[in-house]
Amino acid sequence: MSKKVRVRFAPSPTGGLHLGGVRTVLYNYLFAKQNGGDFIVRIEDTDQTRFVEGAEEYIFNTLEWCGLTPDESPKHGGPHAPYRQSERKESYRKYAEELVAKGLAYYAFDTAEDLDAKRKEIANFQYGHSTRISMKNSLTLSDTEFKNLIDANTPYVIRVKLEPHQEIKFTDLIRGEVHFDTTQVDDKVLLKADGMPTYHLAVVVDDYAMQISHAFRGEEWLPSAPVHIFLWDKLFGLENMPQWAHLPLILKPDGNGKLSKRDGDRLGFPVFAMDWKDPRTNEQATGFKERGFLPEAFTNMLAMLGWNSGSEQELFSLEELIEKFSLERVHKGGAKFDFEKAKWFNHEWIKKSTIYDVRSTIYNLFKEHNILVDDESKFEKVFELVKDRCVLLNDFVQQAGYFFQTPTNIDITALQPKWDDKKKSFFTALIQQWNNDFAGDATQLEQQFKALSETQQIKAGELMLPLRVMLVGGKFGPGVFEIASIIGKEETIKRIENTIAMLA
Ligand code: GLU
Repeated sequence: MSKKVRVRFAPSPTGGLHLGGVRTVLYNYLFAKQNGGDFIVRIEDTDQTRFVEGAEEYIFNTLEWCGLTPDESPKHGGPHAPYRQSERKESYRKYAEELVAKGLAYYAFDTAEDLDAKRKEIANFQYGHSTRISMKNSLTLSDTEFKNLIDANTPYVIRVKLEPHQEIKFTDLIRGEVHFDTTQVDDKVLLKADGMPTYHLAVVVDDYAMQISHAFRGEEWLPSAPVHIFLWDKLFGLENMPQWAHLPLILKPDGNGKLSKRDGDRLGFPVFAMDWKDPRTNEQATGFKERGFLPEAFTNMLAMLGWNSGSEQELFSLEELIEKFSLERVHKGGAKFDFEKAKWFNHEWIKKSTIYDVRSTIYNLFKEHNILVDDESKFEKVFELVKDRCVLLNDFVQQAGYFFQTPTNIDITALQPKWDDKKKSFFTALIQQWNNDFAGDATQLEQQFKALSETQQIKAGELMLPLRVMLVGGKFGPGVFEIASIIGKEETIKRIENTIAMLA
């Protein structure tokens, strides 16, 4: 019987979630759901020096925003709790000791100063097969020396011991067979002096304990794989090991290297899923969410960064992705990030969205700009009228705000050059006309407007732009009579009057 599909996302809570991290979550999630499996989030917080306050909460908020709900996690509970490695501290030591007993790991007593001295002495010093014999460890110390150090409670770490010139190989679901030569692999620390495991030991022990069937993670973890495979082999048996997939990097727009937060700052686009403020440095980073992305667009865009469906289709809901996703179609090479394309996805998703999907987000945005929605059905009408013009959700402030709030910024410079007495008298007559009889419906308002322009012997074409600027504040927006019809008689007249006064 094949193992139940159980995948995990195993972040270290060290900061905001980069879009590469969210894509790792997404591919894990899609694979789990496609196979009726479980998606687990495990917090890998054994490196206390890198722990950042708020980072774990941020991760869960991001997953919630994206709609990628874990089946098991520190927040959602589950049969393998606790899901924070720091709370599982006691479970790791015995495995490190087991390796020592088998001669596959050893105690090392070198102090930070000892290691520094070695680094100065040997360029690119690595604690490994060629150097371990000259260091202070249970391989080089006599039994008595070793016992004395232990009795004196001397701090030590446990390091893995790999013999050189051995081949370690495994089959990666994306890359195929991958080979490593152990000669290049250093003696990584497995258990630290504070009794905490390092990531390398903890990831293996927990993937085993949590019965993980598939482990998908970023390509940057590939160099660590030989140590993990070695530990699996020696502790739990390779037949129990999860199947690995190392996901391609997300690259800078020009393809030159891994996309970083700095590229986002430099080129003006977000790299994190949501706003993140680093509590240590107070450095801020804008998120896709706050920049005005819909979660549907964000996940759709991420899915396509490194995967394709093999068809022309580009827009996929999460449900469709669950159905269509396949690891075979994940690319080996890195995927260049293209912000314009990301915006294209968002625009398409805004066009597809309904008022029910976005109402509360837009209300919140409006609130920040002191725009008050006084009429729900008016809001629905406006939403349908302007959504095609909004690439980012924040565009609704400009594209819909003036329906609810008299514009304060009128682009007078767009009117001034062609403004003359004839136009002024037309608009004065229009005010009178609409004061007496404001037809209400857009088509009828247009007819009234054109009839008046004929009487006044002035081309309607020359009057449309002024009317637009008067009602909207600038040269944008949907049909101008639609706008007049929605904002109504009083507001239309008031805005025309205001602008005439400004032009006087
Ligand atoms: N804790 C590692 C990280 O922070 C997880 C790598 C893995 O998935 O094995 O990304």
